[in-house]
Amino acid sequence: MKLVYITPETGLDLLADSLWDGQDEECRHQVIISIRRGRIAAVRFQEMAFTEKNVRQFNLSGLTVLPGLIDAHVHLALDGIDFQASLARWQDPPAREAAMARALRASLESGLVAIRDGGDREGLNLQAREWVRAGQYPGPRVVATGMAVTKKGKYGSFLGPGTTGPASIRELIAGLVNLNVDQVKIVLSGLVTFQRYGEVGSLEFDAAELATAVEAAHTSGRPVMAHVNSAPGVDLALAAGVDSIEHGYFLTTAQLETMAARGTYWVPTVAAIANRLSDTVKRFYLEREKEIIERTREAQQEMIARAYRLGVKLVVGTDAGAPGVYHGASYLDELLYWHQAGVPAAAILRAATVIAAAALGLDGELGMVKPGYRPCLIAVRGNPLEDLKVLARPEIVFIDTLLP
Ligand SMILES: [Zn+2]
Repeated sequence: MKLVYITPETGLDLLADSLWDGQDEECRHQVIISIRRGRIAAVRFQEMAFTEKNVRQFNLSGLTVLPGLIDAHVHLALDGIDFQASLARWQDPPAREAAMARALRASLESGLVAIRDGGDREGLNLQAREWVRAGQYPGPRVVATGMAVTKKGKYGSFLGPGTTGPASIRELIAGLVNLNVDQVKIVLSGLVTFQRYGEVGSLEFDAAELATAVEAAHTSGRPVMAHVNSAPGVDLALAAGVDSIEHGYFLTTAQLETMAARGTYWVPTVAAIANRLSDTVKRFYLEREKEIIERTREAQQEMIARAYRLGVKLVVGTDAGAPGVYHGASYLDELLYWHQAGVPAAAILRAATVIAAAALGLDGELGMVKPGYRPCLIAVRGNPLEDLKVLARPEIVFIDTLLP
């Protein structure tokens, strides 16, 4: 994988055999993508374009160019390999910095140009955001939530400090806004248990508390991403007007219809459950639990296919950092779970680029290869619309420097 940095001074014409622009059903061929002053300046057919004398040409023969990919749900402070070791590392600044730098690099090398972090109790994702901005470590743009809003004594003590009622919710969110978080993450329900099919840890907030949290976030201009599983949980989240449903295991068709009508994003994170049966972690589960995991994965895939047909704004997110879900490396797994569910490749790629960019607040910046957009692109060998697996190893990742 070759990494190409684009600065505001870079003048570059990419000669691409194929281009998928983030929107179309098909690729275009023999295209020149002109990059000037840190933006995509023009996208033209090669026969209709010429390159000025002082501009460098970059020949991408045999390659398809597409917008860089986006993972809308990760936890940089967790490695997906060993949860306890990750938590222990939080108390060891050099080790945790090295681990997060590795996660950032692995993400970028897998073609990710932006990631949204769902939080950690120490707010380490905010540090990672600054490292990338300052050019200290190579990585995708980090859209940071800092710490998650959780209820004290309930699930998620590793994600946030815990709140005890409306006043403490408001206080936490005010603190997060002071840290200049990009979005607010709320943990509204527990995890899917693997004891009984459909069983989910209890709800953390009532309607009034949730309304307090959403209002505090929205008043400060921050969208709300809600970790929520179970139909009652999703009902509560939708009633409170959250911007995205994260995970959303066991949601209903009626809820999908509501989400489609309102434009609520859904980040279904299949990998967070399904990858527990991957070779590295499956030994931790009993046979009975494995059956429940498979059934839960199948049900989620069925709802993703339904959400696609209903026009829900689906967004790709992996929950990288969860058991068996690795930064960057597991991204393709998520795409393939959706494809197995019957979602067409072009729709999956839109969920991985242009729609994900909007969910991250980066619409107009990332997710399309069009004039005005940032030149955060990948080049892969083969046609991803025919075979998503060509995304496994991008040949080139183009990323802009975020320095002003
Ligand atoms: Zn998460």
